[in-house]
Amino acid sequence: MREAPIRDLDSDLNAFKFTPRRAADQVGLRHLLKRRMLQTIQRLFQSSLIRLPLSWTGTLFGIIWASPLTAFGIALAIPIVIFSGHAQLIRGHTIALLVRGRLADFMLQRHPFGAMNAMAIGHVVIAEKSGLSSRVLIHELAHVRQAAWWGPFFPFAYLASSAWAALRGKNAYWHNRFEVAARKAEKHF
Ligand SMILES: [Zn+2]
Repeated sequence: MREAPIRDLDSDLNAFKFTPRRAADQVGLRHLLKRRMLQTIQRLFQSSLIRLPLSWTGTLFGIIWASPLTAFGIALAIPIVIFSGHAQLIRGHTIALLVRGRLADFMLQRHPFGAMNAMAIGHVVIAEKSGLSSRVLIHELAHVRQAAWWGPFFPFAYLASSAWAALRGKNAYWHNRFEVAARKAEKHF
């Protein structure tokens, strides 16, 4: 058995004494680096260099995802435009094709849920020939965004929400969560 030299013991003690402080420094440094990294990522996402392509990718994905609904909307839009109607591309937070005409008025008056000012089907908004207010347009564009988010499941989700409201003894249209959200969007107008 060999006795450990005293000098070695001292250096061990010093190492022991300094270890917690060094550990604390390392934790502090790691925390600082993590914060810097998060700030850099945040700044990168806020910069238009990243934000715009991300937003375009989101819009493009929404257009593809909602395309089965949009195809149905376009099938309705074609005869509207042919019968002295008019189509216009709307570009805002989302892209939509606004279609108006005599045939659109006819369709909206006979909507299965009752007469409407406008309706959104995927990325197509069918609206009355006259009297389309910005508020109504904002409401419909909110439905376009909902369709872009839910894709082909949107009509089912919409109907399920109406059914849920009706089951609770509420108005199937007014208390539909998608209508509530669209009315909320109108307030930002
Ligand atoms: Zn609505």
